Amino acid sequence: MTIDRAATVEMDRQDKMAPLRDTFALRDDLIYLDGNSLGPMQTKVADRVRQCLHDEWGQDLIASWNKAGWFTLPQTIGSKISRMIGGGKNDVVVTDSTSVNLFKVLAAAIAMRPERRVIVSERSNFPTDLYIAEGITAMADKGHELRLIDSVDELDSAIDGDVAVVMLTHVNYRTGAVHDMNAVTRMVHERGGLMVWDLAHSAGALPVNLAEANADFAVGCGYKYLNGGPGAPAFIYVAPRLQGSATQPLSGWYGHKAPFAFDPAYEAAPDIDRFLTGTPPILSMVALDTALDIWDQVAMEDIRDKSKRLCELFIALVESRCDGFGLALASPRDADARGSQVCFSHADAYPIMQALIARGVIGDFRAPDILRFGFAPLYVRFADVYDAVDHLVAVLQSGEWQQEQFNVKSLVT
Ligand SMILES: *Cc1c(COP(=O)(O)O)cnc(C)c1O
Repeated sequence: MTIDRAATVEMDRQDKMAPLRDTFALRDDLIYLDGNSLGPMQTKVADRVRQCLHDEWGQDLIASWNKAGWFTLPQTIGSKISRMIGGGKNDVVVTDSTSVNLFKVLAAAIAMRPERRVIVSERSNFPTDLYIAEGITAMADKGHELRLIDSVDELDSAIDGDVAVVMLTHVNYRTGAVHDMNAVTRMVHERGGLMVWDLAHSAGALPVNLAEANADFAVGCGYKYLNGGPGAPAFIYVAPRLQGSATQPLSGWYGHKAPFAFDPAYEAAPDIDRFLTGTPPILSMVALDTALDIWDQVAMEDIRDKSKRLCELFIALVESRCDGFGLALASPRDADARGSQVCFSHADAYPIMQALIARGVIGDFRAPDILRFGFAPLYVRFADVYDAVDHLVAVLQSGEWQQEQFNVKSLVT
């Protein structure tokens, strides 16, 4: 590997996306490789939240539901996200958390396949997805079960005539492995099932086209690659063909066809709005809304291209410079089969990551032995990749990760 730091500085100089980093409140010396867990803040988001606090809430109070467009933020923001994931203008709403939205779409899906009782997912899926599916099967209480597979190779045999819905996360949260959305959705449909995609690690990370894939439902996260802020509201996509018939059990007044009629009986909105439940957290909604403006300035293909280059550079540098220290690539080597993150396994992954964090290289640890590094093209520089590996080499060579302070587990890893 002949790449030196100067070469990576030159890559940054030629990178059209490089100026976008300055829109984020990121310290210049911070190497932030954890945007797949919590995206950083753009400075204009703080200004917008302040304006919402001081003017809209502070001065205009309740008038802001109309005057400032608060009431329709679920749809306004939903349209922006829908563009990024291949949906139409009215196919996405922003609401609740990813977990709660999974509950809604899974419940909707199994209700549409009453003669079938199985939900299929992957054992390696993000646990909340599996926990929610468990809750749904327990609640349905008609012999419903969650069937877990260990690899996509098992999908073919797992999807029999009893499968109501297949729920997969498009990009695996630990390894970054990407599913073939079109092929999997087609297989599920051929067997009469419905397809739910979790886009938590896809939206804002790589091109997604739900309409082309013919997906039935999708959910995703506002605080990862979309940079909406801690606990930002999540989103729900429902295929237009299902919006009028799919029903979900959290039938709150926001999903009613006429919320301000205050009718004692629930009647679902005729469209995607029926997937709303209650009053949205407006401060978080305006933060996410403003954070999304940046996507007007970039093409998702360019994001993907830079993401692949960042990840490939990282893998090449780690493998050439950290040889013999026990790191093994835990992500797919083929860039097309990988999302925007790279993981290495190591027996001492936890303290190594803590030592990196102490040096200003922020990645994260995922049990049991994964060092996870996210490469968000909006603000990660090629020189960051070089410097991150420099720090990793230093941590491994010096053995500084063995210090006691790096071996104490925090609540959040
Ligand atoms: C991050 C993530 C979630 C988060 O769910 P919350 O309800 O926001 O806590 C869900 N699923 C996947 C696959 C994720 O990566």
